Parts: sequence; structure tokens; C-alpha cells
Amino acid sequence: MTSRRDFLQKAGLSTLAVSLPFTDALSAMSLEREDKVLRVAIMGLGSYGTRVAEAMKDCKRAKLVGVISGTPSKIEAWKQKYGIPAKNCYNYENYHQIKDNPDIDAVYVITPNSLHKPHSIGVAKAGKHVICEKPMALNAEEGREMIAACKAAGVHLMVGYRMHFEAKTLEVVKKQRAGEFGKTLFFQGLSGFMIGDPTQWRLNRELAGGGSMMDIGVYSINGARYMLGEEPIWVTAQEVKTDPVKFKQGVDETITFQMGFPSGAVASCLSTYSMNNLDKFFLNGTKGFAEMQPSTGYGPIQARTNQGPIEAQHITHQTTQMEEMAAIILDGKKPLIPVDGEEGLKDLVIVDAIYEAVRTGARISLI
Ligand code: NDP
Repeated sequence: MTSRRDFLQKAGLSTLAVSLPFTDALSAMSLEREDKVLRVAIMGLGSYGTRVAEAMKDCKRAKLVGVISGTPSKIEAWKQKYGIPAKNCYNYENYHQIKDNPDIDAVYVITPNSLHKPHSIGVAKAGKHVICEKPMALNAEEGREMIAACKAAGVHLMVGYRMHFEAKTLEVVKKQRAGEFGKTLFFQGLSGFMIGDPTQWRLNRELAGGGSMMDIGVYSINGARYMLGEEPIWVTAQEVKTDPVKFKQGVDETITFQMGFPSGAVASCLSTYSMNNLDKFFLNGTKGFAEMQPSTGYGPIQARTNQGPIEAQHITHQTTQMEEMAAIILDGKKPLIPVDGEEGLKDLVIVDAIYEAVRTGARISLI
């Protein structure tokens, strides 16, 4: 068992302890510690919120300290499970009061897509940093409003792009940037899964803002950009629907899309809610290739190049993501692939263009 002296020595507070009672030394230590830890509240205690909470148990720099939920029974369960104090629990009506809570630094918005904008702006106005799930919003206009609100409030806005911190992804990106594949000229992104329950919010246009594109398709858009290391200048897209009952008007089942880049590189991508185990990135250049399959699932990610397999330890993506986001907020660390609001906006501009291309059949210019 740790003795009082060991405890104070480990905390570097033994000198302080000479002049302070034990309890005061303890609070000095917790103050020092808490200054270095990002204290996070999760908003939306659904399936992904739960995954993030579990992953955060292994974080050293980020700590789950609060919840915002519309379901009182979940709040009770989370209080017990994660040791969350009652004073850090809110609902969607009163969460603005979080501005008076000095024990919460950031809110991770993990609600359905159409709520990302109002919830993120509400959090920003309460003076807390915003981590928002993908897609950042329903369209670019909403994304710009979120960026402006966070800027006005002087808080960070980050998007839950967990792959931006994944070791094998970063290795491939570094190789691409170093020219190991030569001039990269082609990217293929295949993103899909078979969606179940037809009554879920993901198939409700009001809440989802679309269909597969707003959910899984965003990975291929985002992946094309970070794998090629440039921004597209045009988009074409085609929609296919095999089940118009399940996938109603405005809810896309499958979209294929193509993007052209300033270097001459092209991307060919597929987003679908009708095929399982579809999760592949492929990049080819004048000298070689990189292939990732699975490429964006919860892992382990598999990656290889023309030189052979890429090895890296699998760490739960959301654990690494929250550690790195804490370092961005607390230390000003700059990630290799950005995760800020501007990065989220770039994807939304492309989403808008893809839907416009589907509607019009035209090639949509992005410049
Ligand atoms: P869930 O349906 O499992 O959870 C969403 C939660 O949001 C609900 O449980 C509920 O929590 C809250 N909520 C508030 N208002 C509503 C409403 N009107 N309808 C439904 N739920 C509501 O969804 P997910 O957790 O799977 O997805 C949430 C977000 O996370 C989405 O934007 C999605 O794209 C993103 N996501 C990201 C992933 C990634 O890998 N980065 C993976 C999966 C999802 P409460 O009862 O506590 O209020």
C-alpha cells in the first residue's frame, strides 16, 4: 500500500507537505494534475458515445467527467459506471448551464447528424471546447456557422476523425508524402455496411441529412484527401437504389462518386448501406501502391504496400484520438492530418457537391 510519504514523493509534493496539511497537499496535487487533463462531457449516450466512454478509460490525458443526455435512466447508469458526479450531469434543456461548471473543459457531441450544429453551437456559447462527431454538420453552410460560433467563443472545434491518429494510416500517409509511391495518381475508396432497423435515425432524412453518404461515405471522401494529400477540384456522382421502401426520398442507399485533383490524380469511390465488409482504400502511384483493408473500421487495420506489410500495434482508435485531442487543446500540438473545423468543412463542401452531382448529373467544379 502507498504510504503518505510515498504518495507525496511521487506527486513531487514532499517539500510542500512540510508546510501544508495532508489534505491541502492532496488538493494542490489534484489541481496540478487536473490542469494537465482534458475533462470531457459526452453528449448523446448512444452506441458510439458508449464506445468512446469505454475507450477513455485507458486515457491518461483525457477523462470522462460529465454527461448530457435526454434519457434519465442512462444518466443514472453512467453515474454509477463511470463515477460521474451528479453536478456534472445535464439534459438537452439545461446543458447551457455547463458554462458555470469549472470542472468540464470540453463536450464531445455524439448525437444524430442534424443535431451536431445546434448542439455544437450551444456548447461553444457555454464556453467549452467542442469535439463533434462526423459528419460535422449536414452541409457546408452549417459547418461554416459552427466554425464562426467556435471562433467567436474562443474555443476549439474538432471532428471525431479517429483515423487521423491511427498508426498504419499515418505510416501510409508519411510514405505518400515522402514520395515512396512516386507521383500518386489513383485512389479507390470503398465504404459500406448493410444497415438494419428501417426505423433508426440513420434512415430518417431529417435527422441524418441523407443516407450512406452522410455516414460511411464520408470515410472515402476524407480518405481520398488524406491519402492523396491534396484537395479535389471537381466531382461527379451517380446514385443507385435497389430498395426505395427502406431508402426513402433523400436517403441514399448507394452512391458512386469520382473526384479529380490538381495534380491529375483521380479518385473512384463507393458509399453504400447495402453491402457488408466493404472497407477498402487503395492508392497507386508511378512507383508503387498502398492497400488498406480494412481501412476505417474499428480495427485492427491491415495495410501493405508494394514493399510489404505495414506493422504497427493496434490501439483502440478512440483512446488514441482522445489522448491526441487533449494534446491539441492542452499543449497546442499540431496533428499530421488536421481534425479541426476547417477539415470537417472540406468534407462537407464535397458532400454538397456529390449530392448536387447526383441531382443534376453534371460535373461539379470545386474551384
Ligand atoms: P445512436 O443512435 O446509437 O446514439 C445517438 C444518441 O443521441 C442517442 O442514444 C441519444 O442519446 C441521443 N439523441 C439525442 N436526440 C436524439 C434523437 N432525436 N434521436 C436519436 N437519438 C438522439 O447513434 P450513434 O452513437 O451510432 O451515432 C451518433 C453520432 O456518432 C452520429 O453522428 C454518427 O455519425 C457518429 N458515429 C461516428 C463513428 C465513428 O467511428 N467516428 C461511429 C458511429 C457513429 P441520449 O438518450 O443520451 O440523449
